[in-house]
Amino acid sequence: MTVSTLTPPSVQCPECGVHSIVEYKPTVYHCLKCDFEKDLSLSPEPKSDGLGSVILGMLGFGVGLLILL
Ligand SMILES: [Zn+2]
Repeated sequence: MTVSTLTPPSVQCPECGVHSIVEYKPTVYHCLKCDFEKDLSLSPEPKSDGLGSVILGMLGFGVGLLILL
């Protein structure tokens, strides 16, 4: 069992595919291999939950109507 003393080799660079991403700021990841950089604070994942909840709401409304009828 060899445990790396550096950053855990779990973050893979999406550009070059090498596990050389370092977290040099709390929200900024930087690739030592190809200088790829990602600032998580600037680009929050656009997980649009709006449409899903709208569809679920409509489904619930329809089911409620069916139960009432
Ligand atoms: Zn890279």
